[in-house]
Amino acid sequence: MPPIRRVAIVGGTHGNELTGAYLAKKFAALPQLVQRSSFESTVLLANPLAFAARQRYLERDLNRCFSPENLQDAAALSYEDNQARAIYQQLGSGAAKADFILDLHSTTANMGLTIILTNRHPFNLRMAAYLSGLHPAVKIYFWMDSQTTFLRSISKFGCAIEVGPVAQGLLDAALFEQTQALVYSVLDYLEAQNRGVDLKIADRLTLYECTAMVDYPKTEQGDLAAMIHPQLQSRDYQPLQSGDAIFLGFDGTTIHYSGELAYPVFINEAAYYEKGIAFCLTQQQQISLAD
Ligand SMILES: [Zn+2]
Repeated sequence: MPPIRRVAIVGGTHGNELTGAYLAKKFAALPQLVQRSSFESTVLLANPLAFAARQRYLERDLNRCFSPENLQDAAALSYEDNQARAIYQQLGSGAAKADFILDLHSTTANMGLTIILTNRHPFNLRMAAYLSGLHPAVKIYFWMDSQTTFLRSISKFGCAIEVGPVAQGLLDAALFEQTQALVYSVLDYLEAQNRGVDLKIADRLTLYECTAMVDYPKTEQGDLAAMIHPQLQSRDYQPLQSGDAIFLGFDGTTIHYSGELAYPVFINEAAYYEKGIAFCLTQQQQISLAD
């Protein structure tokens, strides 16, 4: 495969996710931290007005604006629609388009250090295996972006880094430093690939593929009828079996899971209340990278 020549490191796609936003600001101020000899790095604060307002977005979720239809929709005029077009022009088209995009996010869920892949290109899978070998706490989450609406989907190569738990609008220094270390490891991987350097990479990878989203129980008026059950709270990536408690109703009743063995993630993500997602179910898969 051709070398990676242009890398984009993006933070603040969601304006209240301060880990990525402040990493982007740091890298923009000290570009030597993210430059390597075999490629150029561009750093971008993706949603500066939302960041200034400490909101996820002003009018709509920027990270759902990148479908080809939306980018070409002349009637899509929100601040985020315009921002998505500007970012696409900079990173997704033309001679200077990014070969690799790293998009930095944080979550209120207990997801630790998660690498999110949206396709199964061997280059991305090998990178994920390299990162989990270096940082044993790293988990790999696979979320097929079938509508290609995510910013990171502009480029075939790349991933998002999702770290948590951290509250919206808050910085956690330990998570900040761990995220920064992961960014450097990603850049090291790209540099080694470009230079043909052999890296120690396991030939197997554990991946968690999103298979379903589960909404909260709702009242007839559409309001919440239950909360995440205390026995599920913070148990991201732990096995969930039929009969396990998942919701606690405001009337005290427990609602149990029924279905095949799954590994829930994004449990009680604050930003997903509005999307009708209480948690995402995943299937654990062992991927062989041997060719
Ligand atoms: Zn985010």
